[in-house]
Amino acid sequence: MRFSDIPGHAEVKERLRGMVDSGRMPHALLLEGPAGTGKFALARALAQYIHCENRLPSGDSCGRCPACQQHQTYNHIDTVYSFPVVKKGSVAVSDDYLPEFREQMDDNPFMDFEQWLMRLDNINAQPQIYVEEANDLLRKLAYTAHGSRYKIVLMWLPERLKEEAANKLLKLVEEPHPDTLFVMASDNSRLILPTIYSRTQRVTVKRYSDAEVAAYLASQYSIGGDDAVQIARLAAGNVSEAIKLISVSKERQLYLDMFIELMRKAYTRSVADLRKWGTDLAALGREREMQFLEYCARMIRENFILNIRVLDLNSLTAAEQQFSTRFSPFINERNVLRLFDIINDARADIAANGNAKLINFDLAIKVILLLKQ
Ligand SMILES: [Zn+2]
Repeated sequence: MRFSDIPGHAEVKERLRGMVDSGRMPHALLLEGPAGTGKFALARALAQYIHCENRLPSGDSCGRCPACQQHQTYNHIDTVYSFPVVKKGSVAVSDDYLPEFREQMDDNPFMDFEQWLMRLDNINAQPQIYVEEANDLLRKLAYTAHGSRYKIVLMWLPERLKEEAANKLLKLVEEPHPDTLFVMASDNSRLILPTIYSRTQRVTVKRYSDAEVAAYLASQYSIGGDDAVQIARLAAGNVSEAIKLISVSKERQLYLDMFIELMRKAYTRSVADLRKWGTDLAALGREREMQFLEYCARMIRENFILNIRVLDLNSLTAAEQQFSTRFSPFINERNVLRLFDIINDARADIAANGNAKLINFDLAIKVILLLKQ
């Protein structure tokens, strides 16, 4: 991770670089601010900058030297990742979850607690940084740095340190080894134990502006124009939230495509194609199929409203509106209620673990008949 990989935050980056360049790196640094602002990415970029063997005059790590390459593959020998986990039996150290944590960093460098819970396979878990992890850190930090000036602990969410763990680490934070740095990133620093908090040097990372989030979506996800602006506004400066909203809108596009295909093939009575459509839909899995059927009901409702000229289509996306202007004449008072019925029946059958391919094909055949009314 290089500073240039992270959008915005020019002042924070300048300050972090300044600490390193002037040789005044605090032994315990805390990046605090709201979630989804790239604090942990900044911590990683800082560590890579500290370890880089060939820093660039522009004030960034080179991205090419052995130290940078090790950082970029999460294998730097003097860098330790520490983060909240759930207990596996009696063991509860970060190392046990390193593969999952690397995936998380790869997947979304802005980090997201909810995504982390899903990766831990337990959305209801309350992951913590346990005393076993603190002991593990003490053990690792007892050795001198292998190849670099500093060993760096990158800690994600120090607010999740158990009190016992925090007490163990306190001495290290108070009287650190001369070659040890703690860099922590907190989404909610008010919850950090005061004994730890008071001993850190703090840097505040502010939320992104909507324009910055929109620009990031455009550059990384090829989402531009009004869509990016709309998502950015909803995300309120939280890039992780914006990324989640994109996946929702991608899902919606998939459902629209499936819906259009159903209606077109039903209109042309392409029975073989509808059988394939039913199979494709079944392949999405039960959960998404239920969501798709809910989507169908919504589209039918919106098109009926459009047909009877109650023109308030704010809830449709541009793509949905485009299709609906031509499709809405087919949804009328003779078939609308029956269409809702067959969609609800299909939902109930899917929920009851029925054969999805058969249920979908049956639904499609009924749509053929109803579109003619
Ligand atoms: Zn380098």
